[in-house]
Amino acid sequence: MDRFGVRNLALIPSWECDIACHHCVFNSSPRTKGRLDLVQALQFIDELIGCSSIEIVTISGGEVFVDHDYVLAVAQHCAKRPVNFRIVTNASFAVSDEAATAQLLPLCDAGLHSICVSWDRFHETFISAERVKTAIRTCRRLGITVEMTCVVSRESRIEDALAALEEEGYELRVVQVKALPIGRGAKKLKPESLFPASYWERGRACRSDFDTIAIVRDGTVYPCCAVGGFTDAIALGRYPNESAAGLLARRRDSFKWSMLAARGPTQLMSCASAEELAAVGADPASHDCVNCHRLFSSGLGATLVDRAKSEVDETAMRLMKLSGVA
Ligand code: SF4
Ligand code: SF4
Repeated sequence: MDRFGVRNLALIPSWECDIACHHCVFNSSPRTKGRLDLVQALQFIDELIGCSSIEIVTISGGEVFVDHDYVLAVAQHCAKRPVNFRIVTNASFAVSDEAATAQLLPLCDAGLHSICVSWDRFHETFISAERVKTAIRTCRRLGITVEMTCVVSRESRIEDALAALEEEGYELRVVQVKALPIGRGAKKLKPESLFPASYWERGRACRSDFDTIAIVRDGTVYPCCAVGGFTDAIALGRYPNESAAGLLARRRDSFKWSMLAARGPTQLMSCASAEELAAVGADPASHDCVNCHRLFSSGLGATLVDRAKSEVDETAMRLMKLSGVA
């Protein structure tokens, strides 16, 4: 039993995208090639169904409609299993009602549960409001649940995005996500345009984000699907070299991931000096996942995990001595 309760699989078979947004945390672009083998992806889904309480498979990227056959195969696979299938897209496929219908109808027939369109000022540089309206209209006509994710900054406002969608902006569920200084966003976005981290984005345990596990194009599996999480040093391992059950067991039982789940990266930061944190750009006032990314991509995270583990071991030893066990 997985005590962090996996409910979602984020299947990210490729970072390839037909556009290259300035805020993209994955550095996706048309030049980014490589795709997770389809058979491996389907096997991973089945293994996860067998060893977790997974309910939803969400395919994202990159742009998933770059390879429609792949998406359709995953949808058809999920339709025969007790999981819902969801797609995240930039809606570039919706060049006309006919084109959008041709893409979505087979997926609808395969039981597609819902579509999330990512659109905001950053995407608008490449994808017109007209295309997004066409995608939303086609989903609504076909009976596919549609929602939108809007990446916001001082220059990318949710109200502007909704106004641009006119009629299609009504009764649309929209989730706002703050643009973060990670990936291409770290190079292209002006720091002053970013919203500061809210109080609840600092000092959190990762437990709620651990309801999702992610697999990417080379089979690497990550413990969450948060934007800071695609950092080599917190990867659980690689599928199929290790089984889905083995990777989940590692996340559940190993100190690093248990500690992140229970206490989050702030606990690690308490084991570092102010100079060490400043050297890697980690700051208690920043978003937890930004700090996590900076700690683990710099190597400091691994050092801090060792220090935190030593402190826990020493405390356990003291308690055992006090109770006469040791
Ligand atoms: S943010 Fe989405 S649509 Fe934009 S480049 Fe990245 S993956 Fe592509
Ligand atoms: S802090 Fe790190 S481990 Fe926790 S949810 Fe964010 S990226 Fe994932």
